[in-house]
Amino acid sequence: MNKNQDKPEVRNITIIGSGPAGLTAAIYAARANLSPLLIEGDESGGQLMTTTEVENYPGFAKGIMGPELMLTMREQALRFGTEIISKHVTQVDFSKQPLQVKVDNQLYLSQSVIISTGASAKYLGLSAEKKFLGRGVSACATCDGAFFKNANVAVVGGGDTAMEEAHFLTRFAKKVWLIHRRDQFKASKIMADRVLGNPKIEVIWNSAVLDIVGNQVVESLRLTNVQTKVEQDLPVEGVFIAIGHKPNTDLFKGQLEMNEVGYLITKAKSTATSIPGVFAAGDVQDPIYRQAITAAGTGCMAALDAEKWLERQEPNGPK
Ligand code: NDP
Repeated sequence: MNKNQDKPEVRNITIIGSGPAGLTAAIYAARANLSPLLIEGDESGGQLMTTTEVENYPGFAKGIMGPELMLTMREQALRFGTEIISKHVTQVDFSKQPLQVKVDNQLYLSQSVIISTGASAKYLGLSAEKKFLGRGVSACATCDGAFFKNANVAVVGGGDTAMEEAHFLTRFAKKVWLIHRRDQFKASKIMADRVLGNPKIEVIWNSAVLDIVGNQVVESLRLTNVQTKVEQDLPVEGVFIAIGHKPNTDLFKGQLEMNEVGYLITKAKSTATSIPGVFAAGDVQDPIYRQAITAAGTGCMAALDAEKWLERQEPNGPK
């Protein structure tokens, strides 16, 4: 422990982000006696705070509400001594050890950092999207598709995610409308062909969603054909927005290696980033699986990787 009062103490592990990845990393790091600091952001819990029931997280045979799952994980992290700060990180400097993490004017020094800032689903920007989130609007068919048995639903988008979501939804829905703003898909041919060959899916080309209409829950979409400007109402019980995700990595630009759309790059079979001592877990480094359970899994990996890294720095063991 650094006794110098002028300088902040150098911590073992600082975790940025409080979705399943960050909280799992905190549980593991705290149980390993590493006294982690978790900077959770203004709102704790990540994307699961905006979902309703989670039916596919192992251990909950009857399902669990997303917010309840996250609050339980948070409690578990606190139980083993995680220190939690409910603010946003405003700046980082990973150019030297100890690593620097700033929250406004407050500086935190740490030997290792686990980044679990997640990714945000992109939305169309309609005010009705917020109103009906969890009441017919979703950005995750794997999470919410099963709530739409025998329903008419729509998917918006023309990329691989939209193809995958539309195809997946045909397991439950009576009919899936796929709404795309152009007259050809951006998706790979194989995935597009699968959708075009599925009798339960009908594509509405050259169309944009003007509004989502309903009382308590989604009842219909107001669409416009972008070429003819003709408008129509499409009765649906659910609409899945599948127009891409944005990893929350603006803070780390220029410091950590990322792919062309901003996902952090980690070394194979590891959570190590391009800077020693900095690890990444969850959706921030995963454009493919994006599940709570895979995020939690990589959060566990990051804590174990950080623990081993700390041991290598201090042969007598971490503080
Ligand atoms: P993409 O960026 O590839 O596609 C986004 C789609 O949404 C595009 O068709 C785009 O239209 C449309 N779109 C974007 N903004 C709007 C808007 N405001 N209004 C209406 N439509 C909009 O994102 P994905 O999430 O589909 O894919 C991301 C990456 O993940 C890709 O590399 C993809 O290949 C990969 N992926 C792979 C999978 C697999 O292999 N199993 C599964 C899922 C994703 P437009 O075409 O006009 O630009």
